[in-house]
Amino acid sequence: MIHQLEDINSDLNISCDVCVVGTGAGGAVVGKTLAEAGLHVVMIEEGGYFPPHSYLADDTVQSLVNLYRNAGAAVIFGKPNIMYAEGRCVGGSTTVNGGMCWRTPEKIMKIWRWEKGITHFSPQKMDYYFSEVEKNINAKSMIPEAVNRESELLKLGGERLGYEVKANIRAQDHCVGANLCITGCPTQAKQTMVTSYIPAFLKKNGDIYTHCRVHRVLTRQNRAVGVEGYFTDPVTKQKKYKLKVKSRIVISSCGAIQTPALLLKSGIKDNKKLLGKNLITHPNAKVMAVFDEPVNSWRGVNQGYQITEFFDDGILMAVNSTSPGVMTLALPLETKNILQALKNEFHHLVMGGVLIEDSSRGQVRTGPFDTVFPLYNLNSHDFEKTLRGVGLLAEVFFTAGAKKCYLPFRGLQEMHSIDDIPKIYQAGFKPTDVELLTVHVMGTAQMGGDPDRSVINPFGEFHNIKGLYVADASVFPTSIGVNPQVTIMALAMRTAEHITENFNKLLT
Ligand SMILES: Cc1cc2nc3c(=O)[nH]c(=O)nc-3n(C[C@H](O)[C@H](O)[C@H](O)COP(=O)(O)OP(=O)(O)OC[C@H]3O[C@@H](n4cnc5c(N)ncnc54)[C@H](O)[C@@H]3O)c2cc1C
Ligand code: SF4
Repeated sequence: MIHQLEDINSDLNISCDVCVVGTGAGGAVVGKTLAEAGLHVVMIEEGGYFPPHSYLADDTVQSLVNLYRNAGAAVIFGKPNIMYAEGRCVGGSTTVNGGMCWRTPEKIMKIWRWEKGITHFSPQKMDYYFSEVEKNINAKSMIPEAVNRESELLKLGGERLGYEVKANIRAQDHCVGANLCITGCPTQAKQTMVTSYIPAFLKKNGDIYTHCRVHRVLTRQNRAVGVEGYFTDPVTKQKKYKLKVKSRIVISSCGAIQTPALLLKSGIKDNKKLLGKNLITHPNAKVMAVFDEPVNSWRGVNQGYQITEFFDDGILMAVNSTSPGVMTLALPLETKNILQALKNEFHHLVMGGVLIEDSSRGQVRTGPFDTVFPLYNLNSHDFEKTLRGVGLLAEVFFTAGAKKCYLPFRGLQEMHSIDDIPKIYQAGFKPTDVELLTVHVMGTAQMGGDPDRSVINPFGEFHNIKGLYVADASVFPTSIGVNPQVTIMALAMRTAEHITENFNKLLT
């Protein structure tokens, strides 16, 4: 059952077979799979439980507060600073994500299998895991009527230029195109962990404790033995009661920023001190286009298509308009023109983004109390890719008929035709002149076959600590260049199967 803060009135000591910290893409899948195999699983979640009928279609601000860490406004520090957003609620970031589904691309699988030693990570061997995940989250094509006009404009521009444009597969069932995915889908169409894996977990007598932040993973003689955390009031932030869980296996599924933070604060060390390093961000640069025709982007789902033409160069393009309040989070620092645009041109706006498959690497550091500092500098290679991606996306919009594009650069905020695109290269920009954001953080407890080059083994267990696993986006050894949730879920399922098959052996 779900134990919420109001149900708790004293410190708690519990025991179980497996304790999973975090209930997002990794945590819910690993938890449900283990519970179905007959293990007693307890999941602990820092955020609250918000069932779909409680999502607030007309109150963006409260939705951000309820469902996101820091109400969706967190920063990765570096050159440039990158805004990032992640879910903090039951379901984690899946509760607020766009639902786009991609299997791990083959080019990435080869790197992970050959160079990183992730055994059996091939399309054939992983097909079973991908298929199961896709079935559970109903990964399907959209009905055309639900797709919004801005998606059509992206497709139009891409096709006129002869580019490859793919219709997105999304985790949804009868999506009607309300375009509220990132503040919680009120129609229950979007298939998140809350509508799929969590109910199945609860059916198998799994327990979830909410509003409880785990502060320490407990180990004894290089073996995980449990966790400690505090039930915390979401408004006052006051610690109310202590939770101590004794378990045979601990799985950290807190996401790629919070997993290393929790483990480092617990004094966990891997052989080569790689934990927290290798932060990958899929930097995303926004281009906002203005069309003469009314686009009314809020009507219909925005993730109808992606332009995949430049995927091999590490550039993916999509559109993602949302409510004006959320769109302001994605805007350049010199926002005067942009705020005017939102006020005067909102009905005519299309918000597009280029996702960069990054080779830059950052790091998660911890500070006093509960502070966590993600650090990341964009290298020159990724910076050049960003400039190119912005130019290409602006070209797509102008080709589809846009009369103006707003850009994510300090000092060059507008272009009026394709002929202006060279200005991006003539301006002499530095990385600190570009405004970036991300919703994909990955890589900080990298998986691999070699204990000297990775933190966890190919099944998610620490190379040097028995019974301590990671099942979330931290496990990615490299950037994948596409939306990551299906890869996270498939790997989490594989980890769960490994634990079940070896449960008795793991205890010796
Ligand atoms: C707005 C947005 C849109 C996105 N769109 C897409 C998309 O369309 N397709 C796609 O594939 N991906 C998308 N993503 C990314 C995808 O949702 C994430 O990559 C994925 O959910 C990450 O899974 P995870 O298990 O690593 O972490 P999460 O799903 O973020 O779950 C981590 C959970 O752990 C909890 N937690 C953290 N620390 C603690 C602690 N110490 N104690 C207890 N609990 C803790 C958090 O509260 C959170 O609930 C999007 C993300 C966002 C934010
Ligand atoms: S577009 Fe609307 S109905 Fe479709 S998944 Fe998103 S919020 Fe739900």
